[in-house]
Amino acid sequence: MIDQPYAYRHKELVEPDWQRLPGWAEVSPQDWASAQWQRAHCIKNIRQLRHVMGDGLDERFYADLERDQAERATMSMLIPPQMINTMVPGLSPADQSFTDAFYADPVRRYMIPVFSDRRADWPSHPEASRDSLHEAEMWAVEGLTHRYPTKVLAELLPTCPQYCGHCTRMDLVGNPTAVIDKHKFELSRDDRLAAMMDYLRRSPGVRDVVVSGGDVANLPWPRLESFVAGLLEIENIRDIRLATKALMGLPQYWLTDEVRAGMERLATTARARDVSIAIHTHVNSAQSVTPLVAAAAKAMLETGIRDVRNQGVLLRGTNDKTEQLLDLCFALLDDAKIMPYYFYMCDMIPNSEHWRLSLAEAQQLQHDIMGYLPGFATPRFICDVPYVGKRWVHQVARYDRELGISYWTKNYRTGVEADDELALQREHEYYDPIYLLPEAGQEHWRTRVGAPVAVA
Ligand code: SF4
Repeated sequence: MIDQPYAYRHKELVEPDWQRLPGWAEVSPQDWASAQWQRAHCIKNIRQLRHVMGDGLDERFYADLERDQAERATMSMLIPPQMINTMVPGLSPADQSFTDAFYADPVRRYMIPVFSDRRADWPSHPEASRDSLHEAEMWAVEGLTHRYPTKVLAELLPTCPQYCGHCTRMDLVGNPTAVIDKHKFELSRDDRLAAMMDYLRRSPGVRDVVVSGGDVANLPWPRLESFVAGLLEIENIRDIRLATKALMGLPQYWLTDEVRAGMERLATTARARDVSIAIHTHVNSAQSVTPLVAAAAKAMLETGIRDVRNQGVLLRGTNDKTEQLLDLCFALLDDAKIMPYYFYMCDMIPNSEHWRLSLAEAQQLQHDIMGYLPGFATPRFICDVPYVGKRWVHQVARYDRELGISYWTKNYRTGVEADDELALQREHEYYDPIYLLPEAGQEHWRTRVGAPVAVA
């Protein structure tokens, strides 16, 4: 055998034993398999986390979490038991090393961020902003972002069954936090969805609709089914993608009889009309891919939809190593039949600097995963450039590594550039984390915006 940088071995998926956690020691397999039980027992605050973990987590962790929630968190806490159970899967809170392992855990790192995770020098990039992709600016009608020529993003609702610390839609999604108020939709849900459908009926150039939120798993199934059924009646819509992290966070929901039967009805209609329906999920770490997640993905494929694909986010401390990324891709592909599709660079939202990678790091990771996966399942690493859209990380036009500024071009007008004659000539910028820059680059930013206030 040739010694390779990454050694592939097929690994069986494992459902960690939830009964190792004191708060769930008595929970039966029937309850665990119930979507209703999972939703009712989500962790929403420190008190509930304490109840589940017992005395196994040190007080320093809770104090760290409390400070983060008071001073930094852009998302409120909401974590289904299924996801908590995948954190530190091999240890029980009674183990001495549990707290250290919990701090280091890849899933914990982005689902339960604590104050000490974040950069004290530059918690935010000076160019970071709420709604950093300017999706709301490009709403054709409320919640319907028309950024690309042929595709739209429909934000059906502003909630999810789980809230991720790094959520790019932190402006809109979830409950307010101590430091972030959320944007509120003005229209009622039904009026908003009706306005979207009306716009799509009047837009023959749109062939692809990403049905998202939030997470479509939080829309009552009959409402989601009727919306997708409406899309299936529009002649020019050929691709429909349903965005749901809950396929991983709450697979029990996608395994319910109601959802399976409903998806089968949609898939049957779609096939008859030559339309592709796919599910797009969001898994960032191999340990999240458990037998229940695999069962949910396969149940969806069995309904006759075209595909289940994964769009992960590159996050330092979670998946910034080649081995972590390849382990994740093989876990998705081998036993869950989920297609590795994209890894996005983390968007430039406030307080995200500790998660973000530089463009150079993302390019290196893309380089390093090549050749191990089948070509059709080799994910592309993506920079979602404000006012541009998705670009493969090697498509950068220019890159100033000293200042950490990459420059990007595009070949179409977004919804806000209809009358902009220079739209296709302009360059758009994306920024690396400042603390990664050489000293001269850091000095530039200190001079430009003033030295960051270090937080003790
Ligand atoms: S599931 Fe998606 S939309 Fe919801 S909080 Fe996570 S990243 Fe944001």
